[in-house]
Amino acid sequence: MSAESYVEMPKSLKELQEGVRSGSVKATHLAENYFERIAAVNPNLNVYLSLTRERALQQAAKVDDAASKGEPLGPLAGIPVGIKDVLVAKGAPATAGSKILKGYQPPYDATAVKRLEAAGAVILGKLNCDEFAMGSSNENSAYGPVRNPVDTDRVPGGSSGGSAAAVAANLAVATLGTDTGGSIRQPASFCGVVGVLPTYGRVSRFGLIAFASSLDRIGPFAGNVRDAATMLGVIAGHDPCDATSSEAPVPDFAVESDKPADGLRIGVPEEYFAEGLDPEVRASIEKGIDALRVAGCSIKKISLPTTRYAIPTYYLVATAEASANLARFDGVRYGHRSSESTTLADMYSHSRDEGFGAEVKRRIMLGTYALSAGYYDAYYLKAQQVRRLLAEEFLRAFAEVDAIVTPTSPTPAFRLGEKANDPLAMYLADIYTVTASLAGICGVTVPCGATSTGLPVGMQVLATHMSESTAFCVARAVEAAKI
Ligand code: GLN
Repeated sequence: MSAESYVEMPKSLKELQEGVRSGSVKATHLAENYFERIAAVNPNLNVYLSLTRERALQQAAKVDDAASKGEPLGPLAGIPVGIKDVLVAKGAPATAGSKILKGYQPPYDATAVKRLEAAGAVILGKLNCDEFAMGSSNENSAYGPVRNPVDTDRVPGGSSGGSAAAVAANLAVATLGTDTGGSIRQPASFCGVVGVLPTYGRVSRFGLIAFASSLDRIGPFAGNVRDAATMLGVIAGHDPCDATSSEAPVPDFAVESDKPADGLRIGVPEEYFAEGLDPEVRASIEKGIDALRVAGCSIKKISLPTTRYAIPTYYLVATAEASANLARFDGVRYGHRSSESTTLADMYSHSRDEGFGAEVKRRIMLGTYALSAGYYDAYYLKAQQVRRLLAEEFLRAFAEVDAIVTPTSPTPAFRLGEKANDPLAMYLADIYTVTASLAGICGVTVPCGATSTGLPVGMQVLATHMSESTAFCVARAVEAAKI
């Protein structure tokens, strides 16, 4: 297959909402149009793993009915959205991109899914991703890779590759993904869309198939910053079903994102502009920083020296937690059970051997090793100590600046297969995103220009805990500069 482009930006939420409210856009027609486009384009991109057609059309009819009666409509009334396949939705298969969950039908909705629907959103289906969200290219999906809509020879990023590609190819107006070490921010930057890493605790994870529980977060993708802010406002807030969800009040993020960035202090950490950064990515990000200066921000060079330990720290914490979380997939309760066994122990090991892919097995082994007696202090405990240092370093920086800007990824989207056989190279490319994951802080990635061959570049805007509003303002200023 030669490289093709399927880029088509969705209409803004505001425009679609005005249409639905006035009756000029019917939610049912809108949903049908999206299903038609999915039928035409999905075979080339492999973005959706399953569709929830009946549920979508029922919800759309409900919205049209309410609109025709002049009843109050939610902030996402009639908006077609897609959900990463690590989140459960009643009646739809949930695979997490893994063979081991083939055929699993969850009996309930994730809180984030429920909240989207309560706000009027129309859920089109479940989106492809790396197996159990482990990966940076979507090549670890048991159901085949997603192709980048900008250039189908390239990866969309991962693990939420389907969520990013769906927005870039207008196969949904907005989507949900998850980010454990960069899985929202990196694919959003590779596909040229906006992605949000909410503060740890901001969004309930009830109904999320866990990868690494001290890091996992759910967040939105959209075609522009304001729409991403609206999506976050809908899914954020305390949930009694998730003890880690925060009781902090949820501001009106869309309104907050309208505020000017004028006067904000922006930190530029030198460690994110060092060796390994693609020169074209650097040039684009520098243009973004200039635009912030023009918008009235003050720019300050800062240093975050613990960054150099971030990759080993992340890959110890994440794999250790994954090895524990994935113990539940044993052929007894969920999905695949091997028929090749005569004893219970055999059944466990055969089911896991047949069901898990190579990367998931690699991580279970790494994590089990790091947690085993005699190694715990040297690896897991040490990683937790470094994690604390890294978090404290960010907090010290945020005493002096309101936001920190960096490239989201050291390179633009790479070619399918380019790093597939080199796990270490794949891990190292997560260098700019794993730091915020470990520190629990929030961030937004916003399109910030392109390379000479037209590959999108993303700027990462980080802000301290519960300060998504600040990140949105800064991202809006970069977006407005149209770099
Ligand atoms: N690329 C990182 C990993 O493979 C991040 C994944 C994620 O955020 N889910 O662990």
